[in-house]
Amino acid sequence: MLDERDVTELLLLRGAEQEQLFARARAARHKVFGDGVVVRGVSEITNQCRVNCDFCPMRRDNTRHNSDFRMDAERLVDTAASIRASDIDVVFFQGGEIPQTTRVVAEAIPGVRALYGDRVEILLNLGNKRRDEYARLRELGATSYILKFETGDPELNRRMRHESLESRLKCLTDLLDLGYRVGTGSIVGLPGQDVAAVARDLVLARDLGVHMASVAPFIPAPDTPLAAHPPGDVELTLNAIAVSRLLDPSWLIPSVSALSKRADEGQYRGLRAGANVMTVNFTPDEQRDRYLIYGRDRFVVRRDYAGEVIARAGLTRSGSVFLDAEPAEVGEPATHGNPPATAAHRAPGVA
Ligand code: SF4
Repeated sequence: MLDERDVTELLLLRGAEQEQLFARARAARHKVFGDGVVVRGVSEITNQCRVNCDFCPMRRDNTRHNSDFRMDAERLVDTAASIRASDIDVVFFQGGEIPQTTRVVAEAIPGVRALYGDRVEILLNLGNKRRDEYARLRELGATSYILKFETGDPELNRRMRHESLESRLKCLTDLLDLGYRVGTGSIVGLPGQDVAAVARDLVLARDLGVHMASVAPFIPAPDTPLAAHPPGDVELTLNAIAVSRLLDPSWLIPSVSALSKRADEGQYRGLRAGANVMTVNFTPDEQRDRYLIYGRDRFVVRRDYAGEVIARAGLTRSGSVFLDAEPAEVGEPATHGNPPATAAHRAPGVA
């Protein structure tokens, strides 16, 4: 089993050795998933947030500069219909951390499930919530939840997020315990973070027993305390993706849009480094322009772009890998997804 030291060494590889690392990661991915890349359809549901992360333009202190929005349940179901029309069976709702999203998403879930005749993965990324709220959303039919710890260094986490790492980890434990397929993730390039810290984040994600993990390069955004901080290193991020694949070959690992923002062919290179998820943006135009994920000039992934990147990497689009797994009961942790890459796991109509 890889430990922190092994991971640190792998993160530092460059040149031919880095290419060998990527090849190992691709082989590990192929063994579990074949050529399939899971395509998700995301809708951003609010740009309001009660948290004040130093790296995020949607932080609480920026609210007065942003024109805020909060979508209602009807709008969410409409957006899910667009995702369904694109033959994507992972409907992903994400938004800032505010309590109101529990009610809105709870209202929308039955309508979303009805659109798909229940053959849909409903993936949420709505921040810390109380356990009973997670339980309610799970009972209504939410399948999976992403909650990134961003950095596993408690002191850096407190400095960057002004929240405790412990509360984040408690939420992750609740989500796992409630039977969600759970994702977490970290940022590469935060102030004061060295390569060993990046390695510790990857090992922490493995030790948490999650089903999905992401690594994204830090992107400095205007109007944030880190606006002048240098961006995260793309090569280090790609190595972190490859190492994540080796740490747990069955993870879903996204090739995030921040890679395309940082580098030409960034998301293509993410897939070549072992990632196996692409997320297509379905947020209605008017709201999307106000979701300041990396500032106003974010990189928006469209369906055609995702398809081109996947094809160029020699891979094929796939549907949710969680739909055919044993349904986990509330209170019974989900089995670790070991989804075989068979046609049965492809979304209807997805080539
Ligand atoms: S990163 Fe998430 S929790 Fe932090 S301020 Fe941005 S939206 Fe809120």
